[in-house]
Amino acid sequence: KNSGRGQFRQFERVMDESLRTRQQIAADLRQALLHFDGLAVWYQPLMEISGQRVDGVEALLRWQHPERGEVPPGEFIAIAEETGLIIPLGEWVLREACKTSLRLPQLIVAVNVSPVQFRASGFVERMIEIVQSEGADPQRLELEITEGVLIEDEHEARNNIIALRNAGFRIALDDFGTGYSSLNYLSTFPVDKIKIDRSFTQSLGVAQNSAAIIESVVRLGHAMGLMVTAEGVETEGQMSALADAGCNQLQGYLFSQAVPFEELERMV
Ligand code: C2E
Ligand code: CA
Ligand code: CA
Ligand code: CA
Repeated sequence: KNSGRGQFRQFERVMDESLRTRQQIAADLRQALLHFDGLAVWYQPLMEISGQRVDGVEALLRWQHPERGEVPPGEFIAIAEETGLIIPLGEWVLREACKTSLRLPQLIVAVNVSPVQFRASGFVERMIEIVQSEGADPQRLELEITEGVLIEDEHEARNNIIALRNAGFRIALDDFGTGYSSLNYLSTFPVDKIKIDRSFTQSLGVAQNSAAIIESVVRLGHAMGLMVTAEGVETEGQMSALADAGCNQLQGYLFSQAVPFEELERMV
């Protein structure tokens, strides 16, 4: 019994620490946002299917913490969402993406939109306002949303998507296949592109039927007039299987990780 209680105290201590860490990270992120200190937007190329040409890029947040060093988005995005900081953070990423789209007119620039941003009141108006104030063309910007935003309030989600598309934005459905009844959503939400989640790409040649699953997603996407991108391409074998399946675009470490703007400029 005693040792059980001891273990529980130990557990509480660990929980306390992780809570403190999260609160500290939230405070540091708020501080960073004041002048965007340590924050950067990097860009990962999206390759045309031959792998020879960069069609577009995905904007990805990077945060160099003064003491902790590089904090991965997988750690701080969730905290930014819980605290609402994702709203100014996401708006800043969009502004940076607008500037990049103006400096590299041959590229489409994709930006991740958090479900918290998407559901905030005035979201669509803010997106339009930012793009206008930067003098960018919304047709060169692609907003990546996840299936999660579509289920919470279907009616509002559809209205938002329609309003964004009417304003000229492209819409991509990110992490496709990881959500719920994925295929149903395609018929009800007017998106331009689906991004097949990297778990599917990485099961190619490992799990049986993975090629068949990807092929059917591509066929369905094409039948609905959508472009299909595959994420997480790391090997030549995956690249050729995805090309055979009819994908339009590839993204992954085989081509490049996310890089700073200056490096992207040299690549395209
Ligand atoms: P995501 O939107 O699915 O972005 C793709 C992630 O996969 C990126 O991780 C990218 O570096 C990584 N990746 C790309 N190619 C490969 C590959 O070949 N192999 C492997 N193993 N990974 C690959 P990153 O930059 O760490 O971002 C993680 C997640 O954080 C993103 O997933 C996205 O959900 C979120 N995130 C990043 N930047 C932003 C942002 O500006 N706003 C919002 N709301 N979320 C963001
Ligand atoms: Ca994404
Ligand atoms: Ca993704
Ligand atoms: Ca993902």
